[in-house]
Amino acid sequence: MNNIKHNFKKNSKNNWKSNKKTHKKRNLKKETAVVKCIGMDEDGKGIIIYNKEKVAVPYLLEGETAAVEILRNGKYVTGRIIEIKKASLYRVKPKCPCYNECGGCQMQHMSYEGQSQFKQKFVEELMKSYGKVNPIITMEEPYYYRNKIHATYTYGKKGQIVSGFYEESSHRIIPIERCIIQNPKADEINASIRELMKSFKMKPYDEVRGEGFLRHVLIKTGFATKEVMVVLVVSSSVFPSKNNFVKALLKKHPEITTIIMNVNNKKTSMVLGDREKVIYGKGRIKDILCDCTFDISPKSFYQINPVQTHKLYSKAIDMAHFNGDEVVMDAYSGIGTIGLIMSKKVKSVIGVELNKDSVKDAIKNSKLNNIKNARFYEGDAGEFMVDMDQAGEKLDVVMMDPPRSGSDEKFLSSLVKMSPKRVIYISCNPVTQARDLKFLTKHGYKVEEIQPVDMFCQTYHVENVVGLCRKNF
Ligand code: SAH
Repeated sequence: MNNIKHNFKKNSKNNWKSNKKTHKKRNLKKETAVVKCIGMDEDGKGIIIYNKEKVAVPYLLEGETAAVEILRNGKYVTGRIIEIKKASLYRVKPKCPCYNECGGCQMQHMSYEGQSQFKQKFVEELMKSYGKVNPIITMEEPYYYRNKIHATYTYGKKGQIVSGFYEESSHRIIPIERCIIQNPKADEINASIRELMKSFKMKPYDEVRGEGFLRHVLIKTGFATKEVMVVLVVSSSVFPSKNNFVKALLKKHPEITTIIMNVNNKKTSMVLGDREKVIYGKGRIKDILCDCTFDISPKSFYQINPVQTHKLYSKAIDMAHFNGDEVVMDAYSGIGTIGLIMSKKVKSVIGVELNKDSVKDAIKNSKLNNIKNARFYEGDAGEFMVDMDQAGEKLDVVMMDPPRSGSDEKFLSSLVKMSPKRVIYISCNPVTQARDLKFLTKHGYKVEEIQPVDMFCQTYHVENVVGLCRKNF
């Protein structure tokens, strides 16, 4: 596969575009060079050395040789492929026709085998001082996995109604009819909504003018239950012909189990507004994960790849080696998924989560599953841990799953003081996880197992779970 011409837009999906916004165009300096890609950065961009400087080139793969345009603007420098001279064996034609523009996935130009190797290497590099990394748990069918889909509505170039995603770092909407990482049901529902809007003379919202009605459509699906939630995010609480619209949508899609109207009349990049009205069904859906049932509301956080979540949670629970007597903390517990799943294997679970709605959902989910040995508290995990330590509470195992920014010193220092025998650290950002492991391994813990899991196929994101135990245990 030699001499591949690239038609990637100059500004598509690389830092250059955002630089262009903040720096005057006249400062732009362009040079071209034929270079070899020596590695890849954490965003899946190829790294080249140009004039002794590391430059990240979007879409370039390790080992490839390419003619590259170097774009320099003050201290910002980035590259753009002009032509690939020698392609990687992992290079494939992206499946999605919108790949160049959309930005939702970043790795579609690499085979799934190549993506898995990239993620494996990335985690190995970060974890090298902590031990051997297990082979990444891949997904058999690495497509159509997302159970939560959000589309923004607007007018297309020809005045037609389109729905799609925002281009990276911009407010331009890229029309998408079919997305290869989302549940295909959502594409069908969005196509029907676009059709119905024409017959109902419903206008999409215009962000600039603040006019029009339908802003976004959020669709959540229960993987095991097949329940479907449609949230219509609209600009006004007056929904003309609401009942007929709902009727017509249900006629086309009898599989929809609930429809919610969410009013967002603010000039904001937040998708959901504060006001919600259930216009069909219960306003929630259920899903089953590792034999527990979960109730999901429009705003609650729920893992987006249920097939891989099952594997991730099973591995995390394995790493804890429960014997049934343990008091376990589920830190950063979301709607209580992992805590409730492991509650059946332990004495009791204490969950802590910052988001009030998620905590309510976790409590609801305990009742739904008739689980009596789990308690969920609202609060900052770090502060909660400090209080627990000061109150002399004991923990046997800590299961932690913080956001991308990782945990903090408050949490980690109280954890080491409480000294549970095991800590299982799940992370969607192994960079911050590696930073936190440094603290834990310095303060009495050793790493027992490291397991990456591919939860976000076709993107550069990777999930990683690390099992640690007390050195003197
Ligand atoms: N364990 C859950 C959720 C993981 S996502 C699951 O697997 O589904 C990370 C969660 O951490 C989010 O629900 C977020 O609201 C919560 N969070 C973020 N910062 C926090 C903090 N300082 N204290 C407690 N929870 C926090």
